[in-house]
Amino acid sequence: MWQNIEAAPADSILGLTEAFRNDPNPAKVNLGVGIYKDEQGATPILQCVKNAEARLIETEESKVYLPISGAPAYTENVQKLLFGEESEVISSKRAITAHAPGGTGALRMGAGLLKTFFPEAKVWVSTPTWANHTGIFSSTGFEIAHYPYYDETHRSVDFQAMLMSLRAVPEGDIVLLHACCHNPTGVDLTLEQWHQVVAIAQERNWIPFLDFAYQGFGVGTSEDRCAIELCAEAGIDFFVASSFSKNFGMYNERTGAITVVAANQASAAVALSHLKKTIRVVYSNPPAHGGLVAATILSDPELYDLWQQELQDMRERIIAMRVALVEGLSSRGVDQDFSFITEQSGMFSFSGLSDEIVAWLRKEKSIYVVGGGRINLAGLTASNIDYVCDAIAEALK
Ligand code: PMP
Repeated sequence: MWQNIEAAPADSILGLTEAFRNDPNPAKVNLGVGIYKDEQGATPILQCVKNAEARLIETEESKVYLPISGAPAYTENVQKLLFGEESEVISSKRAITAHAPGGTGALRMGAGLLKTFFPEAKVWVSTPTWANHTGIFSSTGFEIAHYPYYDETHRSVDFQAMLMSLRAVPEGDIVLLHACCHNPTGVDLTLEQWHQVVAIAQERNWIPFLDFAYQGFGVGTSEDRCAIELCAEAGIDFFVASSFSKNFGMYNERTGAITVVAANQASAAVALSHLKKTIRVVYSNPPAHGGLVAATILSDPELYDLWQQELQDMRERIIAMRVALVEGLSSRGVDQDFSFITEQSGMFSFSGLSDEIVAWLRKEKSIYVVGGGRINLAGLTASNIDYVCDAIAEALK
């Protein structure tokens, strides 16, 4: 049956992890896949998650199916975190949320829902974007278009070019936006720039689809949701795909959510009915554990504070590694100015390292960086930072 079928290439990012695992070099460093690592290079379970799990084991009475859209305690708490407790979007009930398996599942279910009713729409993604965005939306049958985002020369957002492109997006098309911690570049819009983008969405009547995979990895959970708040205040229709993979470190629990914000409660109920149909034929209803853990933490003030503290620790360690990398390179006499790395936000940095250097680092030093030069700063620790800085300095000489 498979004789004449060529094997598919390994996923560009997950394939790198595979190669890293098989690399026998004891000095190897993985700066590839976006997983947080602590100072010991480990990805431990957060204490707030451990505590919530202990509670759940004590109290859980059944493993019956969840509703198609997930446990209400989960989806209600997701909305509070996304919009803020006092948000009009919540009190007016014009937002609906379903638990989806991770941010990926959320994007895919949102895409499936949109495809049913807006099959002719195009989906606009930033250049560059997370590779899976194109995969998710094109596998749903959407044509993909691109809007400029990253200015390589100034290592910032090419905002004028982005605005021009967004002004020309036809009514009814879908524009995928990274709500914070843009992957892969690490450069985000300012609040003022978000105001302008949302104004264009409102004026031109295209649909913002916000990918929110890193809430709390930028400045903080409330600061990072500014794009969502602005869309909510504008009263427009929009989508949010959110994920607890990173901010709760629950990568393997597949805990995300797809949220649709509509004009009013009646429209939101229509959207939910069709979202449930979309979900029903793909995975029927979500896995329970991660959602129950998240709901437990988000609804308990003590666990919530512990979570915020642990999230802050992760965020601050990444910022410290940004500084260490920039200082490490400059103290080794590297001419190139890398100070832009400390301006970027989230787990990633578009380092500006060429594909040749990326290939050399992997071959000669067993340092794994995603093609295009995206570095996961959380892969750096006090014990490997010198090795990495030496290697990059050598490569650049
Ligand atoms: N969107 C972006 C921008 C991401 O970086 C990721 C994770 N790499 C996701 C969505 C999906 O996250 P999850 O693991 O929750 O599916």
